Amino acid sequence: MEKTLVKSQALFERARRVIPGGVNSPVRAFKSVGGTPPFITRGAGAHITDADGNEYIDYVLSWGPLILGHAHKEVVAAAVEAIAGGSSFGAPTEREVVLAETILSFFPGMEMIRLVSSGTEAAMTAVRLARGYTRRDKIVKFAGCYHGHSDCLLAEAGSGIATLGIPATPGVTQATAADTLTVEFNDIAALDALLDQWGDTIAAVIVEPVPGNMGVVPPADGFLPRLISAARSRGALVIFDEVMSGFRAALGGAQTLWGLDPDITLLGKVIGGGFPLAAIAGKRHIMEHLAPSGPVYQAGTLSGNPAAVAAGIATLTVLSGPGVFDTIAKKTDVLRRGLIDAADSAGIRLRGNAVGTMMSFFFSDGPVDNFAAAKATKSDLFVRWFHEMLGRGIYMAPSPFEALFLSAAHSGRDIRDTVAAARDAFARL
Ligand SMILES: *Cc1c(COP(=O)(O)O)cnc(C)c1O
Repeated sequence: MEKTLVKSQALFERARRVIPGGVNSPVRAFKSVGGTPPFITRGAGAHITDADGNEYIDYVLSWGPLILGHAHKEVVAAAVEAIAGGSSFGAPTEREVVLAETILSFFPGMEMIRLVSSGTEAAMTAVRLARGYTRRDKIVKFAGCYHGHSDCLLAEAGSGIATLGIPATPGVTQATAADTLTVEFNDIAALDALLDQWGDTIAAVIVEPVPGNMGVVPPADGFLPRLISAARSRGALVIFDEVMSGFRAALGGAQTLWGLDPDITLLGKVIGGGFPLAAIAGKRHIMEHLAPSGPVYQAGTLSGNPAAVAAGIATLTVLSGPGVFDTIAKKTDVLRRGLIDAADSAGIRLRGNAVGTMMSFFFSDGPVDNFAAAKATKSDLFVRWFHEMLGRGIYMAPSPFEALFLSAAHSGRDIRDTVAAARDAFARL
C-alpha cells in the first residue's frame, strides 16, 4: 500500500539542493526507513495533510509538544493575540512570570526556573550550571538517553544519533568527550562503580527519568531513587531531563509521579505548545548561580518569546483541566493494548512500553530495559511495519528509537482506525 508522494518527492529533491539532507533535523529525512518523507502542509487536531493531499493520523505531534493536537483553538488564539501585540521585546513581560509560576506549580521540588528556546539549550545550560556550582568537570549520562546536541551530551545519545547509527560525532573534541562518562540505563551497580572510580570529579548525573529517545524504556523499580542517593553521596548534582516526560509521563513529570526530588529539571516540548520554548528549573540555591544573580552566564535574544510563552500558558491551562491528562493517558493504554493484540493475532511478538501519554513498540520477545536491549530488537521488522502503517495513513516516527505520542485530539475512532490499520499491516509482515 503506497501513498502517492509526487509533490513531496519534488519538494524533497528541491530541499536536498539547499538544505543538508533536505531537512532541518536529521530524523525527518527517513534515512533509516528509506523512502520519501511526506512534506506536511497542515495539521488539525490529530490529523495532518501532506503536499499530495494525503491525510494521516499523527502520532509524532511534532515529536511530543502538541499534547492538545494541531492548531488547538485556545492555543492558536493565545499565540495570535500575543503576536498582534508585538512578537518580541527582549525585555521582561508579565506573561513570562505567569508561565514560570504555572510550571513551578506542577513541580513541588523546583523553586526557580529560567526560560530558554530549546531543550538542547536547557541541557547545555544545566551542565554549565552544575559545573559552576560544584566546581567539578565530569558529567555522567546514560546510554540511549538524549539531551539535545550540545557537545558534551552527544556520547551514546539516543534519538537521531541512534537512528543513524552514529557512534561519535566529528567536531566534538577529545577533551570534551573525556569529560562525559556513560553507563547503561537501569544498571545501578555499574553507576555505583563509575561513581566510586571518579568520585569527587563528577559535577552531575543527568538522566531522562523516563527515557523516550531509545524508544520508551521505563526505569526499573527503585532505580531512580538509588541513582539520586548514589549521586548525592558523592556530592554530584542530579539533573532530570524531563524535556519529553514533563507533562507526558504525568503532569508534573516523572518526579511528581514517583515522588522524586532532583536538583535540576529540564523541560521543553509540551511547555511551549508547539513553539520554541524550553526551561531549566531547580533549587533556589543552585538556580541563583545563573547570571545575573550569579556568575554562571546564560542568555538568549528570543528567550521568553511572547508567542511561545502565550501558547505554553494556554496549553498548560487546558491540559490541567479536570480529567484532560488522564483521558489522554487512558487512550494511550487502549492503543497500546490494541496494537499488541493485533500483533499477537498475526503471531508477532510486540513489546509495548508506555508511561502516561508516551509509548513505543519494539519487535522483541523479551523486555526492553536499556539501550543495548533496544538496539538488539528487530529493526528490519519495524521498518516494514512503519511503511505498511504510513501507507494506511498512520504517521509514526520513522525509527524504533523514538516515541509515539497521543493527544487530547485523538478520538476513539482514530484509535480504532489505527488498530484496524495495524491488523492489516501485521498480516503482511
Ligand atoms: C527533545 C529532547 C531534547 C532536545 O530538545 P530540543 O528542543 O530538540 O533541542 C532534550 N532532551 C530530551 C529528553 C528530549 O526528548
